[in-house]
Amino acid sequence: MTTATAVRQETTAPIIEIERLNKWYGDFHVLRDIDLTVEKGERIVICGPSGSGKSTMIRCINHLEEHQMGRITVDGITMTRDVKCIEQIRHRVGMVFQHFNLFPHLTVLENCCLAPMWVQKKSRREAEDIAMRYLERVKIAHQANKYPGQMSGGQQQRVAIARSLCMHPDVMLFDEPTSALDPEMVKEVLDVMIELAEEGMTMLCVTHEMGFARTVADRVIFMDEGQIVEEAPPEEFFGNPRSARAKTFLEQIV
Ligand code: ADP
Ligand code: MG
Repeated sequence: MTTATAVRQETTAPIIEIERLNKWYGDFHVLRDIDLTVEKGERIVICGPSGSGKSTMIRCINHLEEHQMGRITVDGITMTRDVKCIEQIRHRVGMVFQHFNLFPHLTVLENCCLAPMWVQKKSRREAEDIAMRYLERVKIAHQANKYPGQMSGGQQQRVAIARSLCMHPDVMLFDEPTSALDPEMVKEVLDVMIELAEEGMTMLCVTHEMGFARTVADRVIFMDEGQIVEEAPPEEFFGNPRSARAKTFLEQIV
């Protein structure tokens, strides 16, 4: 009885809990009282004007930025400055950046094997098996021995997604993954993200791809000046934004 209750609590607990998160860059108050709870399997799109704190907020979740007040909990682990704690959280959280951030001197396959081998201590053989599986999923396995510089931006971004997935994260964070791409390459990356969403991956995506948001998001979060100003299902947010700031923002991007 007790055991069953404990298991149940564990499986229904939110994967990410952000409570009254505040951050400053020097004197500049960049995040103001951010509260956000993400359930397992939820797909969240974060949008808002440039400079509103979207990147800073998601970078705080895996401690690429340090916050000064409030609490971030990932899979029950509350973030501290302790290196072990940060490592434990980073094992659970994958991140994909605007500019791919692949190592240019390593092949696609080597890029994907690096963390599984050095962080998870897997053998090269095992790491390569995992990597090839994910490279197949993003339809790039045939280019495994190329270097990033020999590939298009869309291909590099798909590699970056595969590389993250090799660590078997519980949550994926995307920070404007398509905004550095030529228009014809946006779809191939969004298609991979849509597939991931359909497979049940928990995702927080900073993106202005509103078609994507309408297709996959359970919730859209609109940020402005370091605050969450609005939070609603996509049809409600796009159809009937409540705040003047969200209305202005939507008029500018469509
Ligand atoms: P967004 O991703 O919504 O465009 P950011 O989180 O990148 O916004 O930035 C929010 C604000 O914080 C901006 O005004 C930006 O100039 C500022 N900022 C971002 N990074 C730094 C930093 N390392 N030092 C000082 N200010 C920063
Ligand atoms: Mg940003």
